[in-house]
Amino acid sequence: MIEPIDLIRPELLALSAYHVPDSSGFIKLDAMENPYRLPPELRAQLAEKLEAAFINRYPDPTATQLRERLIETMGIPAGFDVLLGNGSDELIQILAMAVARPGAVILGVEPSFVMYRMIAGFCGMKYVGVPLREDFTLDLRATLAAIKEHQPALVFLSYPNNPTGNRFEIDAVGDILQAAPGLVVVDEAYHAFADDSFMPRLPQFPNLLVMRTLSKLGLAGLRLGFMAGRPEWLNEFDKVRLPYNINVLTQTAATFALDHLDILDGQAAALRAERARLSAGLAALSGVTVYPSEANFVLARVPDARKTHAALKAGGILIKTLHGAHPLLSQCLRFTVGTPEENDAVLAAMAQSL
Ligand SMILES: *Cc1c(COP(=O)(O)O)cnc(C)c1O
Repeated sequence: MIEPIDLIRPELLALSAYHVPDSSGFIKLDAMENPYRLPPELRAQLAEKLEAAFINRYPDPTATQLRERLIETMGIPAGFDVLLGNGSDELIQILAMAVARPGAVILGVEPSFVMYRMIAGFCGMKYVGVPLREDFTLDLRATLAAIKEHQPALVFLSYPNNPTGNRFEIDAVGDILQAAPGLVVVDEAYHAFADDSFMPRLPQFPNLLVMRTLSKLGLAGLRLGFMAGRPEWLNEFDKVRLPYNINVLTQTAATFALDHLDILDGQAAALRAERARLSAGLAALSGVTVYPSEANFVLARVPDARKTHAALKAGGILIKTLHGAHPLLSQCLRFTVGTPEENDAVLAAMAQSL
C-alpha cells in the first residue's frame, strides 16, 4: 500500500499544519480580528446586496468594480494598479510561485509573519531570516549584508511587524529598497492602526510592492488581500493567479464595505484608543514588559508565558503565546486589542495570572 511518505515532498512531511485552536466560547483575542461588526442597518443592506448576487455565475475574473473601489479608497498613486488575493496569504503565494526560479531566495526578518517562510518552503525556495535587534528594530547592517550575500528575489517586511507590533524606521526600509536587487514587499496588514504607509512612496521605488488586507480592518471572513505596484509587475503575477480567486460574495460584500469605509475607520480609531489603554494596563502589572505597537495587538513579556497563557485560557480568554516561536520572543504573549469590556476582562485576568 502506498503511504504519504512515499509520495509527499520530504520538506512537507517535516512540517506541521498551521494550527488554529478551537475558540468557541472564548473571548477571542488571538488572531487580530476586529471585535466589532458592521452596524445592524448596514448588515441589512448588505444582505440585500448578497441576495441579488448571481451566485450561479462565475465571478468577474478581474473584479473590476472592487479593484476600482480599492484604487479610489486606499490611496493608490496614479499609474499604479492592484492585484487581488484570497487573503494576502494568497498574494504571498502568488509572488513566490512567480519568482521561484531554481536557487531563488526569499529574505525576511525574524521574528516576523510566519507565512513568508512557510510559503517559500511550499514553493521550493530558500528562505533567509535576518534576526531583528533585541528591541525588535531592524538590524540594518546585518540586513544589507544578507541582501548582498543572498541576492533575494523577494524581501518581505511587515510594516508594522507581526508579531512584535513595531513599525520599522522609514529610512531603513528605504535603504533596503535601494539595496535590494529584487522586489521588496512592504506588508501593511496593520495599516489602519499605523502612523505611516509606503503607499504614497510607490513612485519613488520601482521595486516596491505594497500589500494590504481587509482582514485586520474588520472583514477577516471575506478573505480579501490586495497588492499595489507597477502594472508591469502585476501583469506577470496575474498569470499565476487562479482565474476566479475572489468569489462573487466577497466581491459584493467588500465593494459594499468600502462604500462605508468611514465605519471601519471609526472602529480602527476606537481600537487604537483601546490599544493605549490595554498597553498601559498591562505595563502597570509588576514583571510585565509591554512593547510599543502600531497594530491592533500588543506584545508583552511576562515572567512565565506558559503559566499565564494557560491561566487566561482557563478563565475563558484566548491569546497567542509566542514563547518558543523565536529566541527573541522568549516569555512573550500577544494580545489582540478587543472591545473595552474584553480588554477589562484581560487586565483583570492578567492581575491573577502572573
Ligand atoms: C494577518 C496577516 C496577513 C494575512 O492576512 P490575510 O489577508 O488574512 O491572509 C498578512 N501579513 C501579516 C503581517 C499579517 O499579520
